Amino acid sequence: MKGVDFLKQPFSGLRRSDHLRTMAEEKLDLLVIGGGITGAGIALDARTRGLSVGLVEMQDFAAGTSSRSTKLVHGGLRYLKQLEIGLVAEVGKERAIVYENGPHVTTPEWMLLPVVEGGTFSKAGISLGLFVYDRLAGVKKEERRRMLNPTDTLEREPLLRKEGLKGAGLYVEYRTDDARLTLEVLKEAVERGALASNYAKAENLLYRDGKVIGAEVIDTLTGDSYRIHAKKVVNATGPWVDFLREKDGSKTGKTIQWSKGIHIVTDQKHFPLRHAVYFDAPDGRMVFAIPRDGKTYIGTTDTEYRGDPARPRMSGEDRDYLLEAVNGMFPSVRLTADQIESGWAGIRPLIREEGKPTTEISRKDEIFLSETGLITIAGGKLTGYRKMAQRVVDRVCAGLAEEGEGPFGPCVTERIPLSGGDVGGSDRFPAFVEEKVREGTELGLDEQESQRLVRRYGTNIDKVFGRIASQGKEAEAYGLPPSLYAVLLYAVEEEMAATPADFWVRRTGDLFFDIHRVKRWKDPVLDCMRDVCGWDEETCSRRRADLDLCIREATEFV
Ligand SMILES: Cc1cc2nc3c(=O)[nH]c(=O)nc-3n(C[C@H](O)[C@H](O)[C@H](O)COP(=O)(O)OP(=O)(O)OC[C@H]3O[C@@H](n4cnc5c(N)ncnc54)[C@H](O)[C@@H]3O)c2cc1C
Repeated sequence: MKGVDFLKQPFSGLRRSDHLRTMAEEKLDLLVIGGGITGAGIALDARTRGLSVGLVEMQDFAAGTSSRSTKLVHGGLRYLKQLEIGLVAEVGKERAIVYENGPHVTTPEWMLLPVVEGGTFSKAGISLGLFVYDRLAGVKKEERRRMLNPTDTLEREPLLRKEGLKGAGLYVEYRTDDARLTLEVLKEAVERGALASNYAKAENLLYRDGKVIGAEVIDTLTGDSYRIHAKKVVNATGPWVDFLREKDGSKTGKTIQWSKGIHIVTDQKHFPLRHAVYFDAPDGRMVFAIPRDGKTYIGTTDTEYRGDPARPRMSGEDRDYLLEAVNGMFPSVRLTADQIESGWAGIRPLIREEGKPTTEISRKDEIFLSETGLITIAGGKLTGYRKMAQRVVDRVCAGLAEEGEGPFGPCVTERIPLSGGDVGGSDRFPAFVEEKVREGTELGLDEQESQRLVRRYGTNIDKVFGRIASQGKEAEAYGLPPSLYAVLLYAVEEEMAATPADFWVRRTGDLFFDIHRVKRWKDPVLDCMRDVCGWDEETCSRRRADLDLCIREATEFV
């Protein structure tokens, strides 16, 4: 494969400028702008076909929509209602591929779909819908839908409202950590020789003879500027795609419409949900309630948005909508605003359809090719990222072939495990977890902590365990538990975490699912990052203020 050794760089938060400098020194085959799941998928696909690839992300990787979703790799059952047969079939099949390649970032989860008097679906409707869904999505036998009577439904989830309950459909979805999925895809791309940097903004596009030939990129942490040249440039900036199209003079025809969705998180002691449930909100929309790591999270909303796409906020109205939905379907819970621990808001980049409200706009992806050669990918879902990447890289390779480049191979990502996912197939994952959890307990971790880490890092767990084994003394010096110190070092040295917010929001997910842990350890983590990254006092205060802002955004409603 072309240039692997030359391109290979450690994916370290301390080596960001090496990645950017190398990108600027060489003419790349492909420059990807945007480090969400779409850009990460494109980088991996292109790299595995032999292209030299650079990716730039103006915030942290996945800091846009790709850390703010419902965190499900799902077939999109609700799109069946809108008769989007092709979309359901494609993303449904993709679920199985994502699970096979990344069993550590995807967990099968049985989902209850209650049938209630006056609800969206009748029992016969759900049964038929799920039957069609199973066939379209090619669902494996053991995961196909089951229908439950009211007694069995309540046995599975006793908190459901009993009045008017006619039973439930039961089907499988896959729970994920969206930001970590993005990272594992990108880490795999980088392990294979792609270059990538966060906090690197494509400020302007570069042109020669009317054709796009790269971008002027600013390192937003240092202010350094780089001119990066590439034979092809892809705009994978999600909610921001129209900004780049505007700079390119190609924002014509279809445009992007933003829709905001929020999620709220509460402790299991306030909402002791046993089972994931997909249920009717009072306005007829469907909402998820999902148990996870001792918490329950609920979402989402779907409202038109016009603010700053980088910092969407949860409003009191959003919160009350979700509380009303929960208390309507689970009346004994009586969830209140002060029981919400944290939450997040995200922006869906939808392709505008005149006259349609955001709730009815298709979630399909589309590629726009500009006269300058800029390739824009818009819309889509986390779940379908691999197929989206395939379509984009097919275009890129076709374009390169026309210019006499290549030949480049076909898409092979269907069988490429993600970083941490190479356990020899998903069937082997439980045995792998068992063995590694034992190793973790031998290192002094308790069983629960060991489970959490092994499931999060998959085959990369050895790199975390290695740091626990060798650096206990240093952890002590910062007053940090050895496992937290090891995870922090791994995040900085091998996952390009460059700020405390990167660590707490997108490397660990603790800001959403364990905010008390963030508050408890944020100061020693900052002290440790200051030393490891060599920050002066001013930088340190900026990083602290940045994390405090993230905490406020996750805990306050406007
Ligand atoms: C509330 C909600 C719930 C959802 N739930 C699900 C779900 O459960 N399952 C599912 O499959 N999908 C779900 N989705 C959809 C899914 O999250 C998105 O389709 C997906 O994350 C979009 O990824 P992306 O990479 O295209 O965009 P993003 O993740 O936003 O990435 C684009 C990136 O480009 C960067 N960028 C912008 N401009 C520049 C520039 N000039 N230079 C460099 N970088 C730039 C941004 O900082 C950003 O990080 C949900 C979406 C929302 C909002």
